[in-house]
Amino acid sequence: MSSSAYHPLVIERAWDTTPRARVAEFRVPDHLRQTFVHRAGQYVALHVELDGVWQEHAFSLCSSPEAGQPLTIAVKRSDTSRSAPFIQSLLQPGTTILVSPPQGSFTIDLHPESSRCVALFAAGSGITPLLAIATSVLVAEPLSTVELFYANVSAADTMFADELRRLHGEHGERLRVVILLEEGADATLADFAEVRGGRLAATDVMELVERHRSGNKTAEYALCGPPGFLEMVNAALGIIAVPAEHIHIESFSSTPRPTPTP
Ligand SMILES: Cc1cc2nc3c(=O)[nH]c(=O)nc-3n(C[C@H](O)[C@H](O)[C@H](O)COP(=O)(O)OP(=O)(O)OC[C@H]3O[C@@H](n4cnc5c(N)ncnc54)[C@H](O)[C@@H]3O)c2cc1C
Repeated sequence: MSSSAYHPLVIERAWDTTPRARVAEFRVPDHLRQTFVHRAGQYVALHVELDGVWQEHAFSLCSSPEAGQPLTIAVKRSDTSRSAPFIQSLLQPGTTILVSPPQGSFTIDLHPESSRCVALFAAGSGITPLLAIATSVLVAEPLSTVELFYANVSAADTMFADELRRLHGEHGERLRVVILLEEGADATLADFAEVRGGRLAATDVMELVERHRSGNKTAEYALCGPPGFLEMVNAALGIIAVPAEHIHIESFSSTPRPTPTP
């Protein structure tokens, strides 16, 4: 992507959703409103200078256009992250960042008359585009339900717990959340989710999907997380004969791509 394809956007608000994950909301000026129209599940690329090299980093949008939410991203760092801590340090109200228009095809077509189940499998920061998709389905398809299966290390590491709690409060049983915590079940999330201890395994995927499938005619599946998680969930869905055309997959794995100086 050439540097002219990026637009300077000012950060309106920023906050930590967990100790390792920071959220930022951009202000989109009127003359760029059309440019930044997006679909739930798409991502933007930030153009940043790190160690003297301009590079782009993709971040999924966690905001739902159907809910009228402002353009929002979330950046999570790990112990080995080289870029994420620097990018997080930029996410402060008033900072201007070069942002690409929304892109990507990890989206689900929305139909107001649909009565279906949308099953979402997220691991860690993979929740970001799936939060947008969950919100959009709940808002735009009043007869549909959303099942979110969300794997994390611990309750403290669970991004967007407050947003999911609020969404569950607004939509009740139309949003069912199952959270799997490697460090063991934790009661702090139990007010809006079924919380289980352990890692999500193929047998869990098959059991959870069979359970929600029974009451619904059609289902759509969207997966986002690290490569091993995606392979495991996709294989499990294959075993229980979920047609591939109903499975949408987004992988976050990428190496930073050097780009021209703006
Ligand atoms: C479509 C998409 C959406 C994404 N959405 C999100 C999101 O919503 N939230 C989020 O937190 N992340 C998201 N990511 C990941 C994000 O773009 C970055 O990869 C991440 O923030 C960089 O984090 P890091 O510092 O942990 O990785 P880094 O330490 O920068 O490393 C990233 C990868 O590049 C390799 N690498 C790093 N530097 C070099 C180098 N100089 N030469 C060769 N290899 C190198 C690393 O080994 C690693 O595999 C998304 C990625 C994609 C592709």
